Amino acid sequence: MSERSERSDGMIEARDVRLTFGSTPALRGANLSVARGEIVAVMGPSGSGKSTLLHCLAGILVPDEGEVWFDGQRVDTMNEERRSMLRRDRFGFVFQFGQLVPELTAVENVALPLLLAGARRPKAVAEAGAWFERLGLGGLEGRRSGELSGGQAQRVALARALVAKPEVIYADEPTGALDTLTGEQVMDLLVTAARAQGTTVVLVTHEARVAAYADRQVIVTDGRVDALVEVLS
Ligand code: ADP
Ligand code: MG
Repeated sequence: MSERSERSDGMIEARDVRLTFGSTPALRGANLSVARGEIVAVMGPSGSGKSTLLHCLAGILVPDEGEVWFDGQRVDTMNEERRSMLRRDRFGFVFQFGQLVPELTAVENVALPLLLAGARRPKAVAEAGAWFERLGLGGLEGRRSGELSGGQAQRVALARALVAKPEVIYADEPTGALDTLTGEQVMDLLVTAARAQGTTVVLVTHEARVAAYADRQVIVTDGRVDALVEVLS
């Protein structure tokens, strides 16, 4: 049985989260609450703890102290098996460099989360294929990641994050390797698809232009979430 949250109204919460790597404190008491359906940009300088915070929220890293909650469940006290189920069944991920499986075609990469969830291959490939038209990738289904441009690969990674209709997408610098225009196209697609599916998005970026796509921006400085900027959009 998992402990239930009584006080939390956020879907995702970090409460006084602390994590030190060796002698480097990465998080020093981070607090964040994200509502269901919200798109939150986590900003801040390089090395401030943004990725570490995202990894703690997503159950990839376990904090030394503090609490992480998702949908009324304590994440930080779960065992690795339950955290990996949470990541597989309820979260989608987009990282800076797409991280597609190079041996698989683009459509096979996108079908992967469905196959892991137990879908039959024809159904998984058909559902994955539908995302190619939606994201302007029609005709690229059979390419391998080495045969895609950076922007195309990142849109394939986006399709892979979205295909199983996760409740949350955790995106860490998803436009970091792209030029401005391509980055904006990827953000437009991410935000449009997330809003259409009601997906909550936690978006780490150090680019103000990218953060402007979010409903709300928070700033991480020295391992703490120390400023809130409400964005009217
Ligand atoms: P950001 O994403 O804001 O650039 P990070 O969360 O990656 O920052 O890193 C925060 C701090 O923790 C930095 O000082 C970084 O060097 C350190 N750090 C992050 N990950 C590790 C790790 N796996 N091992 C050692 N130090 C790390
Ligand atoms: Mg980072």
